[in-house]
Amino acid sequence: MVPSVLLSVAPQRALQLLTVLCTLPLALTLSLPRVLAAQASTWPQHSLERPKPPMQVAPVQMLPVAAPSGAIVLFDGRDLAWWEAADGSAARWRLVDGAMEVVSGAGGIRTRVGFGDVRLHIEWMSPNPPKGSGQDRGNSGVFFQGRYEVQVLDSYGNDTYADGQAASIYGQFPPRVNVSRPPGEWQAYDIEFRRPRFDAAGALLAPARLTVRHNGVLVQDDVALLGPTSHRVRAPYAAHADELPISLQDHGHPVRFRNIWVQPLAP
Ligand code: MG
Repeated sequence: MVPSVLLSVAPQRALQLLTVLCTLPLALTLSLPRVLAAQASTWPQHSLERPKPPMQVAPVQMLPVAAPSGAIVLFDGRDLAWWEAADGSAARWRLVDGAMEVVSGAGGIRTRVGFGDVRLHIEWMSPNPPKGSGQDRGNSGVFFQGRYEVQVLDSYGNDTYADGQAASIYGQFPPRVNVSRPPGEWQAYDIEFRRPRFDAAGALLAPARLTVRHNGVLVQDDVALLGPTSHRVRAPYAAHADELPISLQDHGHPVRFRNIWVQPLAP
């Protein structure tokens, strides 16, 4: 059937319109990630009105999870050999009970080598007894390439903005559900990170992508990041090296980490 809009125009113009109408579904499909990103970004950053992910009881998970053969073990509880401070000096976090603990004021730490596309397993525990509220409670973070943060926060009965709670992509995407364990209990993140792609001139070809499992539950499913992590402002992508360190944040709280291993992924 010929759409009625075509009956009132000249044949050549009608053909053009028909072409546009036929290719529209394909164009819409191709632009879907952009549309979704646009929808996500319509929420003001850190909006308190943005719906909070429903709480879900974390399933039973045996921790620690042993590193598969071939994985690079970044931390096994014994030393910080793979880690350094942001200025390249020795990492000054505390070793305690087979874990590393943030030392407030010591600054974040980062791996001594860079990674591109990578799978990361990391276990963390927020301080017990808990102290503070909102963002000021068990806050740390896992940064890929020093720029793209998966939030670490005590989100067990601790209210904060949806895009800032545990397992959020900070300031961008809340997790689908909140499967936080209580403070003082070990929790796990299994994360797949795909680095952004830039062309030779530094223009963005493909955004960074993150898939996150929190305590075994899929909470971020191949999410395209809007840009690097930033607070109260949406920062645009800026070209950077293909391989950069993984960092852990010092947000002033004695959060602990253990059993950290990675598997570089094929591009
Ligand atoms: Mg953080």
